[in-house]
Amino acid sequence: MFKFLKDKLKQVVSRFSQQVKEEEAAQVSPPVPVSPPAPGPEAGLEEQKRAEPAQVPAPQAPAPLPEQPLKPVQKPAPKPAPRAIPPKQPSSLPYRTPALAPQPALQPPAQPQKEQPAQKKGIFQKITERFTKTIISSQKFDELFTELEIALLEGNVAIEVIEKIRDDLKREIVDTPFSRGRVEDIITQNLKKSISGLFIAPGVDLLARISGKKPFVICFVGVNGSGKTTALAKLGRLLQEQGKTAVFAAADTFRAASIEQLQEHAAVLGIKVIRHDYGSDPAAVAFDAISYARAKGIDAVLIDTAGRLHSNTNLIDEMKKIIRVAKPDLTLFVGESITGNDCVEQARQFSEAIPIDGIILTKADIDEKGGAAVSVSYVTKKPILYLGTGQGYSDLQEFRPEMVIESLGLS
Ligand code: GDP
Repeated sequence: MFKFLKDKLKQVVSRFSQQVKEEEAAQVSPPVPVSPPAPGPEAGLEEQKRAEPAQVPAPQAPAPLPEQPLKPVQKPAPKPAPRAIPPKQPSSLPYRTPALAPQPALQPPAQPQKEQPAQKKGIFQKITERFTKTIISSQKFDELFTELEIALLEGNVAIEVIEKIRDDLKREIVDTPFSRGRVEDIITQNLKKSISGLFIAPGVDLLARISGKKPFVICFVGVNGSGKTTALAKLGRLLQEQGKTAVFAAADTFRAASIEQLQEHAAVLGIKVIRHDYGSDPAAVAFDAISYARAKGIDAVLIDTAGRLHSNTNLIDEMKKIIRVAKPDLTLFVGESITGNDCVEQARQFSEAIPIDGIILTKADIDEKGGAAVSVSYVTKKPILYLGTGQGYSDLQEFRPEMVIESLGLS
């Protein structure tokens, strides 16, 4: 599930962190030829440190220095004014660290005030930070996000969701110093935090609600072929497993064979179907099913409706009438996860036409991208209640945001 997006995110984040590492290494080594031309043992060591930032943490350690002391020699003549570092360093280093500078209590105690020590310390700290901290500028972040944005778009994530992720990451990452070597981790953790925040709508404890009202009426709406009938049958089975009784209302009187399809499921599950003829008023079917449930003391009425596009005014009006007559306790939009942005757009349009309480995303088992699951709740402000994960009756998983986080490799 969601493998495509998972792989893409991983690639982009790793590539970026690699790029940051390389740039840091480049920034630190070539341009500042601190050591004078005369080689000497110290010079080799300095070069080594700059070229190998990871080795710095123990600043005073001798460090083996065999490999390539050749660099200074290779540069023949340029160098206009090489040894001008000391005066400029204090204020011009881009790597200021807000946290480290004001730490008076931690200074080594027995260092009163000698000539240079204080100054030397400042420089030393800054150099150390330069080796140990990463700061991502706004410009660098934009570079990262361009790639991330493409990955998210390819993964069918909705534009407004991408914008939210961008704002979240930018706020957390830009100009915030963090330990070197942690770029990938920091970005991943912030992505996780941002995506977790997309599932803002509270879930619905369906079973508790069904226990609270009899009959509890659930209406399933969505476009054709999205998996409404299958989801309805799965939910009927789930209710049975919880000791609840249900009746199905065959309120899709529009599409040929829809009633028979529902009846087939009902026969397997041993659930009663209330049906009228094709072409009859679906609201009347729903009404009859509710009356039947009331009369028989049945816990839940599950209403199957015809698939429709928001642009089909007649069918949308018909759906509004079903809602008016049946007054469902819960109206669920059923959308195909694999259709990505289309699914999100449909959910938005349905929820503008009628009050939607929650979403079932079907075919999550064959969705490699995952954009709909990431986006739909944020866009509609409605919770995803279940994921359809196959064609069997038990292939219905209660939705948890952590599933998405895990499937995207962000946990
Ligand atoms: P409806 O027109 O909205 O009622 O859609 P159906 O319930 O008839 O489903 C359309 C097709 O999608 C059927 O072949 C179902 O078996 C299939 N389907 C429904 N839910 C899922 C699911 O979660 N995973 C997979 N792989 N197929 C599903």
